[in-house]
Amino acid sequence: MTLSNKTLLDYLNQLLQPQNVRDYCPNGLQVEGKEHVSKIVCGVTASQALIDQAILHKADAIFVHHGFFWKGENDCIQGMKRKRIKALLDNDINLYAYHLPLDIHPQFGNNAQLGKLLSIQDCRVIDPRDKQCVVMRGETQYPTSAEDFTNKVEKLLGRKPLLVDGGGHQIRTIAWCTGGGQGYIEQAAEKNIDAFVSGEISEQTVHTAREMGIHFIAAGHHATERYGAKAIADHLQEQFNCDAEFIDIDNPA
Ligand SMILES: [Zn+2]
Repeated sequence: MTLSNKTLLDYLNQLLQPQNVRDYCPNGLQVEGKEHVSKIVCGVTASQALIDQAILHKADAIFVHHGFFWKGENDCIQGMKRKRIKALLDNDINLYAYHLPLDIHPQFGNNAQLGKLLSIQDCRVIDPRDKQCVVMRGETQYPTSAEDFTNKVEKLLGRKPLLVDGGGHQIRTIAWCTGGGQGYIEQAAEKNIDAFVSGEISEQTVHTAREMGIHFIAAGHHATERYGAKAIADHLQEQFNCDAEFIDIDNPA
């Protein structure tokens, strides 16, 4: 089925509610392309490689978690940014990008989807008072050693995580924030959570884990953020009976 780019925008806005989130980039239709959309490519980042794949697959629209126009970056359209935008405009491809709204969506969000993939039970946000809380918590099915849980993460994400042992205890309660959410480890430790999973790790994360007694698992920014865009692809396909496909561009970070 074919839908208009405007209909797709209205639908995504209604689904992901970007107006409720303070973000570091514009969410929605970042680059306008052709009016009629029947093929949608979904991915993590609007990199040149993803755009090239979208062109190859004759996509009318791209949906991503990491789009363009980040706060603080150079606004001018030059170099790498020009090449990406030129490729979109030359091929009349719409670019839809949803950053934090895709992290926090209770069903299709990166956090919710990662919790589901890891079979975490009773998933909920760690601070229900915070309307844009980006950290979730839940329980593992059984008490598990940090090593066994890390092995499970490796198997499911297809990437070797980095484990910082926070003191030898078993994991029952767990909190997580996909991508670059390592700074939230303290919030999780203060709530006496056994382990915290995020994508990236910083130097100080290791000290926090050791000193606050919480296991930390860095499972990859890209690897932890694949599942929101993938869930959106499946959902759009079902909702509009259009051709929506998730394309994974390998990224070791
Ligand atoms: Zn991210």
